[in-house]
Amino acid sequence: MSETPTLELPWGPAADGLDRPYWEGLAEGELRLQRCGNCREWIWGPQWICATCHTFDPIWERVEPVGTVYAWARSHYPFIAELADRVPYVTVLVELPGAGNRRVLGLLVDDAPENVRIGDQVTGHIELDPGATWPLLRWRRVDTEGVRE
Ligand SMILES: [Zn+2]
Repeated sequence: MSETPTLELPWGPAADGLDRPYWEGLAEGELRLQRCGNCREWIWGPQWICATCHTFDPIWERVEPVGTVYAWARSHYPFIAELADRVPYVTVLVELPGAGNRRVLGLLVDDAPENVRIGDQVTGHIELDPGATWPLLRWRRVDTEGVRE
């Protein structure tokens, strides 16, 4: 019988350095996404070049971590070793109106993530887990009553 596979998450900057400003932003308490310095288009995930106007070296701008749940998934199996103690956990894809509706992924960590619905309003919180090098962006619903009918 083989061991169950788990994922190694790329928590922290990638070797090519492309997303390093994102992680450095979190470490400094800010969500930062890429934006083209020429045509001002928001870019996410990180790119070396703007897909709209083909200008190199997009800049990084602070984004208010406020958005809506565009999609979600509940994981009942600890594919990610670091999240084993959180099973079942809910991952949300959050649409950010302050960044051209670009969408970012993260854990939903409020009191009742099992009640998540598409369109829920969420705010991002930057959290550094014990023993971790880089903080992560996690989400909580604005309406935290938690239990719904
Ligand atoms: Zn551009």
